[in-house]
Amino acid sequence: MELDDHAEDLASDLGVDKEEVKSDLQNLVEYSVPIDEAKGSLRRKYGDGSSGGSAPSSKEIGEITPEDGNVTVTGVVLTAGERSIRYQGSDHVIVEGKLADETGVIDYTAWEDFGLSPGDAITAGNAGVREWDGEPELNLGESTSLSFSEESLEVPHEIGGDAQLADLQTGDRAVTVEVAVLECERRTIDGRDGETEILSGVFGDESGRLPFTNWDPAPAIEEGGPVRIENAYVQEFRGVPEVNVSEFSTVSELDREIDVGTDSTTMDIGEAVRTGGVYDVCVVGNLIAVRDGSGLIQRCPECYRVIQKGQCRTHGEVDGVDDLRVKAILDDGTGTVTAVLDDELTEQVYGGTLEDALEQAREAMDQEVVADTIRENIVGREYRVRGHLSVDEYGANLDAESFEESDDDPETRASEFVSEIGAAVDGEEVDA
Ligand SMILES: [Zn+2]
Repeated sequence: MELDDHAEDLASDLGVDKEEVKSDLQNLVEYSVPIDEAKGSLRRKYGDGSSGGSAPSSKEIGEITPEDGNVTVTGVVLTAGERSIRYQGSDHVIVEGKLADETGVIDYTAWEDFGLSPGDAITAGNAGVREWDGEPELNLGESTSLSFSEESLEVPHEIGGDAQLADLQTGDRAVTVEVAVLECERRTIDGRDGETEILSGVFGDESGRLPFTNWDPAPAIEEGGPVRIENAYVQEFRGVPEVNVSEFSTVSELDREIDVGTDSTTMDIGEAVRTGGVYDVCVVGNLIAVRDGSGLIQRCPECYRVIQKGQCRTHGEVDGVDDLRVKAILDDGTGTVTAVLDDELTEQVYGGTLEDALEQAREAMDQEVVADTIRENIVGREYRVRGHLSVDEYGANLDAESFEESDDDPETRASEFVSEIGAAVDGEEVDA
C-alpha cells in the first residue's frame, strides 16, 4: 500500500484532512517509524477512541515496552548528543542519548531543542514510545511537556558517554572517546551537498581499533592526535561499526599518550558472527573448503569487481585484470566464516607469484589449477585468521589481514575434525 492510501484510510477513519495526515505520516516514516506504528501514533494524536486517547500513564523506565503508546517518565539524562539529519529537503538538529532511572536505561530522540544535558533530572510528559530493533525508544517531540527537576536523582549508571573503542556498537550515540589516530587520509566525496572533504582512517585506544569518518575535518585529528572526542556516534559502514565525528562533536588535543593495544580480540566464530560485524577480530578454525572464485581470477578494470568470462555486471565486456585471491571456509564448531585473502596472502598460501600462477594456468590450459594447488596446500589444516568481519545476506566474511597456520598441534586437530564432519562439505556456492 502506498503512503497515499494509508493517509486516505486514516483520514476517513478519523474524519480529518487527508493532506494533514499524509504530511504527518510522511514525517514519521522518514524518521524510520514503521508504517503500522506511525498510523497508530496518528490515531492517538487525532483522538481515535479505540486505541486509548486517555492521558499517558507514568511509567518506570524498566517497565516501558514497545507496545506503550505514550508515557510519562522521570529520569536522569546520561548522554545528550546533537546530530543533523535531513528530511523534506532541509537539515534538522536532533538530540539523541540515554535516559535512566533506578529500573533501567532507555534511548531517546528529542526532535525539539529542550536544552538537555548530561546529569539533568527530567520529567517527560506524553513522550512517544517507538520500537527500534526490538527495544522501546522514547520520542520527545512537539506534544511532549518537559520539565527539569531541581533535585538530582541517584541512578546506578555513569553520567556521560565515556567509552572504550572495543565496547562501541552500531547505534551508540553521544559517546566520548580518547584515541590515537593510527591512519588518516583526506578524501573528497560526493556528499548530499555536492563535493565535500572528509577525513577517514583508523582510531586506536587501549582496548582496540575502529575505523572513523570525520565529516568536518578537525585539525587535531588530521595532525595525528592523540585526541579526546566528545559527542561522536557509531554507525555501520561496510558491515563494521565506525566512529562518526560530526560538526557537533568536540575534538581536543589530548596531553597523554595512548597505548594502543596490539592484541585483537579472539572470539569463537559463532560469537563473532552474532555481533553482526566486528573490526579487527581473531578467529581460529579448520579450513574445510576453498570456494569457487578463488585462485587466479580476473577483475573489471573500472570497478575492480570479479568478472566471469570477461563480463562485468555493470560495465559489460571488459579487458579483465588478472589477480589472485582466496575465499576459504573456516569452521570451529560454533560457526563458519569465509576468510577472504588478498593477493599477497594468496601468494603465500599458493607458494608463488601472479606470474607463476599465469604460467601454471597456461601450461594446464585451465586457470582452475591454481585454486586446486591452493586447496591441496590449505584444506584440512587449522588457521588463525585476523581481520575485519562483516555479515550480509550471503553469510559472514572475514577480510583477512593475517592468515597463519595455528601452532597448537594442527595435524591432529585437523584430521580429527575432517573425519568428524566427513563429506558434509561439497556444496560450493556461486561467487558473489
Ligand atoms: Zn565493472
